[in-house]
Amino acid sequence: MNMQPSHPSSARALLHSVFGYSVFRMQQEAIVDHVVTGGDALVLMPTGGGKSLCYQIPAMLRPGVGVIVSPLIALMQDQVDALKLNGVRAALLNSTLTQEAAREVEQSLLNSELDMLYVAPERLLMARTLNLLERCQVSLFAIDEAHCVSQWGHDFRPEYVQLSILHQRFPAVPRIALTATADGSTRREIIQRLALEDARQFISSFDRPNIRYRISENNGNSREQLLRFIRNEHPDDAGIVYCLSRKRVDEVASWLSSKDLIALPYHAGLSAEQRQQNQQRFLREDSVIIVATIAFGMGIDKPDVRFVAHLNLPKSLEAYYQETGRAGRDGQPANAWMMYGLQDVITLKKMQATSEAPEDIKRVEHHKLDAMLGLCELTSCRRQALLRYFGDELPDPCGNCDTCLQPPETWDATAAAQKALSCVHRTGQRFGVSYLVDVLLGKNDERIRRFGHDSVSTYGIGKEHTQNEWRDLYRQLIARGMLAVDLEGHGGLHLIEASRPVLRGEQQLYLRKFSAKTKNRTRKSGSANRFAETGNNKLWQALRSRRQQLADEKGIPAYMIFHDATLAEMLENRPENLAQLANVTGVGERKLADYGEAFLDVLNEYRDIETDSQTDTEAETLQLFRSGLEPDGIAEARGLKTTTIYNHLANAITRGEVQLEEVVPLATTQLDSIRFAIESNESGQRLKPVFDSLEGEYSYEVLRCVRAAMAC
Ligand code: ADP
Ligand code: ZN
Repeated sequence: MNMQPSHPSSARALLHSVFGYSVFRMQQEAIVDHVVTGGDALVLMPTGGGKSLCYQIPAMLRPGVGVIVSPLIALMQDQVDALKLNGVRAALLNSTLTQEAAREVEQSLLNSELDMLYVAPERLLMARTLNLLERCQVSLFAIDEAHCVSQWGHDFRPEYVQLSILHQRFPAVPRIALTATADGSTRREIIQRLALEDARQFISSFDRPNIRYRISENNGNSREQLLRFIRNEHPDDAGIVYCLSRKRVDEVASWLSSKDLIALPYHAGLSAEQRQQNQQRFLREDSVIIVATIAFGMGIDKPDVRFVAHLNLPKSLEAYYQETGRAGRDGQPANAWMMYGLQDVITLKKMQATSEAPEDIKRVEHHKLDAMLGLCELTSCRRQALLRYFGDELPDPCGNCDTCLQPPETWDATAAAQKALSCVHRTGQRFGVSYLVDVLLGKNDERIRRFGHDSVSTYGIGKEHTQNEWRDLYRQLIARGMLAVDLEGHGGLHLIEASRPVLRGEQQLYLRKFSAKTKNRTRKSGSANRFAETGNNKLWQALRSRRQQLADEKGIPAYMIFHDATLAEMLENRPENLAQLANVTGVGERKLADYGEAFLDVLNEYRDIETDSQTDTEAETLQLFRSGLEPDGIAEARGLKTTTIYNHLANAITRGEVQLEEVVPLATTQLDSIRFAIESNESGQRLKPVFDSLEGEYSYEVLRCVRAAMAC
């Protein structure tokens, strides 16, 4: 570490001074202690559980460099950047480095100047790298994403199998393998292939308690329901919206954009460049929504994704759990929100019926879809059911899913189900839901007359329910396996064995009550944006915008400066000085030194004007400016940072209260060159590219003012 004099020696001291956290989570401490003393470990922890600290802290406590093997090259840079921001000496070796840069890393390794080295598996296995490591002191090997060793898994990496060589060549160096893939067979494969028979196993629950699971019926207006959900609960949060098709992705993204949200598409039909650009904006800016096919998400570990929305039903619970798991990695409240409807069920059943896959695979897929449908129609705790499926037992209902928060009412649907099933029978078991519902309602329809179905006994016997209610009932019957979708794929329904007992009146059927016209569940989930309700919204926005400024200047994602959780704690505790700020979760020594003042400044500014509005402080700045003071002078007079004063002035420029030329005394040609640079900036709101393209000639403050003038 850089902070030599205060090099803390205990794990807890490091946790606090470097990472700014006060307590270890779950099994972290036990794992750290075990590895620090030289033990091997196998760690199974859910996504967002905090695996990284399990090797990072031992790597710092043990003498030498910790070597971390990771298959996700795209993430390595982020991890190294994040460590550096905390003052940790970290570097990486992979194919993205120039030869020159790689030599530099090698040299600092030999000079014992690194605490941690991230390396791609193929790079590690090269003779050159192994020889190099033999000439240094290695504190530990961490094998991240250890399930890549499994030949049966989706992420199989042949190089991972060869990692057993580490044990042979470095028998004295402890190894820690980590994964979020839970099942027993993968675990056994990891142990066997990596020679970890003697490793201690640390297995955590796979529950993600901060994620609120919510599933509701799509009544044909899922887009509007999505918009309402985002506006009510996540007005300026980052989120992911999953859709089934590319076309739908484009449609939803542009529709949300037309509603003043920042929504970007992501699917395989876009150019690689466009995808990369959208992904970058999602990672780097606050409040960006990605609308994507399931192709999106692998290797994304943005911690502050506040919601994952599904506009279509995933194929299996595995897929659902993985996709929703991308929300709330930072442990803060997050929503997993899903809409599903009759059409989803029929589409997926049809796809399965017409699939060319071998019978045994089809059977498995069939099973998985049924489990997924089961979760949707559930009237008891969703989390309990999910975890049970993955072999985890949750003793009590969770209290943080929709069925716990608002238990669905059930009703005795036996008689209605008999009518619905009987109508399928009377019309010859070949019609789809819309037709069947029309018959039940006794519609005056040419087709019905042509087939003579206006004279069957079920014609017009269902007038006590609405069209939507009958559709709802059919969906539940299909989802419960009481009706099957035809094999030709036209959506016709036919009876199966399981429907018999109900038809004959031998089985009672209790179903979810029809959802009254999209009864909206607007109960707030307490997302990070809960501050919007408490009158603290402005300070929250100000903290976030300061964070964005700092991130822009460094060209890194905003969350790397501080997580939402850290800003939220600042908002709650209102630290007044550096010592108090140091106690906020996520503020380590290095970040305190680098960013403490910048955030205290925002907090201090708001302390005085708690009851006043932002406009008052801006008005004061403007008044002093009009009286002839320069921004520096105003900053001094008000005890604020110059940057803050410029922000006030930029806002005044946007409102047309002051002219750009009054604030920024530059020649027209200079202003033109700045405007040109801003206009040709492809990366949206980020100013770093503009700053760079002007070779640092103009400060961020000046750039911000020019941009403000362009916006008005
Ligand atoms: P994983 O690799 O298991 O998905 P990470 O190691 O990325 O999870 O940790 C997830 C998030 O939780 C990170 O933002 C990390 O900083 C945070 N975190 C980890 N351990 C703690 C802790 N003891 N206290 C507070 N936050 C923590
Ligand atoms: Zn629950």
